[in-house]
Amino acid sequence: MYFLVFAAFAIVLSIPSGGLPWKTIEVPALTYGMVAGQALLAGIVAWGFARAVRTRLDSEPAWLPGAQRLFAQGTFAVRVVLAFGLAGSIYLTDWAQRVRSVRWLQSFYGLDELAMLVPFFTAILLGWVMLYPADRAIRRVHFDQQLRAGILPRPVWRLGSYLSFMFRQHVLIIAVPMVPIVIANDLVSYYSRSIRHWTKVAWGGEAVLVAVAGLVFLVAPLMLRHIWHTRVLPPGELRDRLERMCKRIGLTYRRILIWESDGMVVNAAVMGLFRPVRYILLSDGLLEMMDDRKIEAVFGHEAGHVKKRHIQYYLLFAILSMFIVGGLMELAMRARAQWPGYFPPLAQFEGYLQVAAMALVVLVWGMGFGAVSRRFEWQADLFGAQSVTPSESECNRPCVLHGTATPFDPSGEKGPGVPPGGVPVCATAATTFADALHRIADLNGIPIDARSWRHSSIANRKQLLHQYAADPQAAARLERSVLIIKAVLLAGTAIGLVVATWLYWPR
Ligand SMILES: [Zn+2]
Ligand SMILES: [Zn+2]
Repeated sequence: MYFLVFAAFAIVLSIPSGGLPWKTIEVPALTYGMVAGQALLAGIVAWGFARAVRTRLDSEPAWLPGAQRLFAQGTFAVRVVLAFGLAGSIYLTDWAQRVRSVRWLQSFYGLDELAMLVPFFTAILLGWVMLYPADRAIRRVHFDQQLRAGILPRPVWRLGSYLSFMFRQHVLIIAVPMVPIVIANDLVSYYSRSIRHWTKVAWGGEAVLVAVAGLVFLVAPLMLRHIWHTRVLPPGELRDRLERMCKRIGLTYRRILIWESDGMVVNAAVMGLFRPVRYILLSDGLLEMMDDRKIEAVFGHEAGHVKKRHIQYYLLFAILSMFIVGGLMELAMRARAQWPGYFPPLAQFEGYLQVAAMALVVLVWGMGFGAVSRRFEWQADLFGAQSVTPSESECNRPCVLHGTATPFDPSGEKGPGVPPGGVPVCATAATTFADALHRIADLNGIPIDARSWRHSSIANRKQLLHQYAADPQAAARLERSVLIIKAVLLAGTAIGLVVATWLYWPR
């Protein structure tokens, strides 16, 4: 969902101010039909899936895992409708021009772009309204199961709190930081001439935009902790444990926060580049439903993201993707200057380039970011497991680290103990972390084999953890592959900087 909301903003930002360079549908009935149709279709698809989930689950509670799977498929189907609905209504119709021609929307910078997205946000909300009865039905069955297991969970949330949580969680978290960028984009295109005059460089406008985006990225955690309802983790045994762990691994942060979801979500997260804006979030559901050891393991995973500097490298990824796309655009402009006969007129060509740049950004993120993110997650899993390493006497499994097992070795040449160059993980610690992952999937009703853009499936992550514990060299291979990714990001960004400076340094 994050990716979809981000892509939606990228799409409206990519519309050239003179309108799309190709011919679009200009029949009002068709335009409005497509714009309203995206919300309608999202609602119908969501309703269909929700109905199918409820009809069967009502008569057959044991079908719960099947219901969760169907619900996940329904969520995915709605997202596909949302993506095509948005791209279709923006790129194939004159919706964007119609919004821009409304006078009062021009009275405030950025308002027209936000207005273009209103049907998209409506479609998202309508999809959730329709999906909610199925979400509630699944949670009720799960609630009953937990009651029978002697656990007293919180009552299932109402439609209002469900919608508010989902919208803050999935839409506002991207949309709120994007608003200043959208406003800055409008301002820059309006005042581009005076900015160029004032900074004396041709790319003054772009520089202002990058500076605004960078600033927003830096202070975003201060906004996000209020967009998601959070409060400070109160003093107590758990906080002492987590603080001790932070001391041990040298982790600094501003606050550990409880992330409120009416107990419905079991999750953790970390945000912020530097200590003064760095928050570690543990959801209320996680704290209520898991024992301290597992909470510590999950916390260790988030700490791993900080200690291994994943957020900084994500930032490099963003910068590098801009260099790659910007570089290709520059090449295209130069090619046109060289052989003008083969290209369309300049204004139209620039329009095409602007849209192509957006498509490329989405492509680079869609393909590259997922691959990088999965490896970073595996490394954080490894770190999380290592952070709950027990003492030798507490380790109760055949363990390479604690010398009670020999490492996996097809050649049969290795002796006991961790081989040179291997990264050791205690088998008991790996199991603690794998169990925590399994329980998170269970409590959230996520199918164990469900993948996402940023994570591989829980089943895969569990299997990898056991593999790392049995084979220290497999863990070492993962560490090496992350190192290579980081080196590529660093080198690529450095090269991009040099080339950009050489190309654009004001002479
Ligand atoms: Zn993670
Ligand atoms: Zn052990």
